[in-house]
Amino acid sequence: MYDPRSMKAQEFIDHQEILESLAYADAHKTDDALIGSILDKARLRKGLSHREASVLLACELEDRNREIDELARQIKKDFYGDRIVMFAPLYLSNYCVNGCLYCPYHAKNKHIARKKLTQDEIRAEVIALQDMGHKRLALEAGEDPLHNPLEYILESIRTIYSIQHKNGAIRRVNVNIAATTVEDYRKLKEAGIGTYILFQETYDQESYEKLHPTGPKSNYAYHTEAHDRAMQGGIDDVGLGVLFGLESYRYEFAGLLMHAEHLEAVFGVGPHTISVPRVCPADDIDPDAFDNGISDDIFAKVVACIRVAVPYTGMIVSTRESQKSRERVLELGISQISGGSRTSVGGYAEEEPPEDNSAQFDVSDRRSLDEVVRWLMELGYVPSFCTACYREGRTGDRFMSLCKSGQIQNCCLPNALMTLKEYLTDYAAPETRAVGDRVIAQQLDGIPNEKVKQIVTERLERIAHGERDFRF
Ligand code: SF4
Ligand code: SF4
Repeated sequence: MYDPRSMKAQEFIDHQEILESLAYADAHKTDDALIGSILDKARLRKGLSHREASVLLACELEDRNREIDELARQIKKDFYGDRIVMFAPLYLSNYCVNGCLYCPYHAKNKHIARKKLTQDEIRAEVIALQDMGHKRLALEAGEDPLHNPLEYILESIRTIYSIQHKNGAIRRVNVNIAATTVEDYRKLKEAGIGTYILFQETYDQESYEKLHPTGPKSNYAYHTEAHDRAMQGGIDDVGLGVLFGLESYRYEFAGLLMHAEHLEAVFGVGPHTISVPRVCPADDIDPDAFDNGISDDIFAKVVACIRVAVPYTGMIVSTRESQKSRERVLELGISQISGGSRTSVGGYAEEEPPEDNSAQFDVSDRRSLDEVVRWLMELGYVPSFCTACYREGRTGDRFMSLCKSGQIQNCCLPNALMTLKEYLTDYAAPETRAVGDRVIAQQLDGIPNEKVKQIVTERLERIAHGERDFRF
C-alpha cells in the first residue's frame, strides 16, 4: 500500500505504485495537453510528483522534449546561477564484507589490493588534497565492521578537520558509508559531518536482492530506510542516488523521486543532493554485464527531468562521466562536480602502481582540478569552493526555507567569488588565475545589492593580501 509517510521501505517505495506510474507515463507519452499542463506546473518551480515527472521522462514529442530541456536550463540558472560547487572523494578503505555484483570491492574479489589508510596516511592524503585547493570532501569506505568500524571513520573525520597546512583547510566532510543505526548516525553528526550520502543503487527490491546476494547490505528495507535513521540521528542533510544501468532507468527515476517525496512528507525536508552515477568499468566489473545501461541522450534527459522535478535539490556528477558528458549535463541541472579525483585508496599522496589496483571505478575524466576549474570558467561557470551553509548552521529545514524563499542566492554568488579568489591566489596556474580574475570581475556586476557588492569587493582585496575564510 503506497504511503509516502510510512516508515516502511516497501510502502514509501511501493512497487505497484511505480509500475502504475510507468504505465500511466507510457499511456501519456504523446499526450500533448497533459505534458503541456505538467510543464506549466513545473514552471512554478515548486516541483513535480514522481508520476508527473515520469510522464516527462517518457515524453516522445520532440517539441515538448526541447521545452523540458529549456525549462531545466532555466531552473538551473535561476536557482544556481553559473556556480558549480567543487568536491573530491577520499577513499579511506576498500575492505568490504558485502557482495555487490557491480562493485570491485565486493568481498569475493581476490585480485584487488585491499588497503585501509592509517591516520598518518590520511594526513598525507588530506595535505595532497589541500595542495590541490579542495575544501570539501566526500569520505568513502567499504562496509567492514572489523577493518572499518565506526570508530575508525570518526577518528578519520577528526584527523581531517584538524589538518591546517599552509592556507589549506577541509571545511566540510560529507560521508558515504554503509547504512547504520540511529546511534551511529548521531555520532557522525556529533563529529561534524556535512551530508550523509547513501546510494540506493536500485529501488527494485527483486533486482536489489539479486545484486546484493551476501552481506548486511542485502537487506533491502534496512538499506532503504537508512536516510530516515540518519535524520532521526540528527543529520538533516542527506543525499540520495541510484546507479543507473542496474535496473530500468524509468523505474529508478520514479523510485528516486518517491524517496524524495517520502523524506519531505516525514521530515519536512527533501534530500540535500541527488547523485546520478552510471555503472562503469572497474576491476572484475564489465558494465556490459548489466543490460540496463543508458545512452548519453537518456542520461541527459534523466538529469533534466530531475532538475525540473526537484528544483531545490543539488545534483552531483562524478569523474565517472567523461568531459563531454559532464559538459552536457552541467547546463541541464548538475550543481556539484568532483575534480582531480582518485578513486583508489591512498591515490592522492602517491600514484598507485598499475599492478596494485585498489580503485572503485575507472575515472573517465582524468584532468587535474586546475584543468577542471579552468575548463568550467571557460564554459562560463563559476567554480565555487563554498562551504558556508554548513558552517553557519544553515542545514536541513533552515537551508531549505532559505532556498525556497530565494534568499540563499544572496549568499551563494558572493561566497563563490570569495572562495574562487582564495583558490586562484593559493593554487591556480597563472593562466587559470588570469581567466578567473576576469570571471570574478564580470560576476561582481551580477550581485544586485550594492552594499553586498561593496563588501565582496573589499574582501576580495583582503584575500589577495593574505586573509582567508570570509563568508556570508
Ligand atoms: S558498493 Fe559499497 S558495500 Fe558494495 S561492495 Fe562496493 S564498497 Fe562494498
Ligand atoms: S552559500 Fe550555501 S548553498 Fe550557497 S554555495 Fe555556499 S554552501 Fe552552497
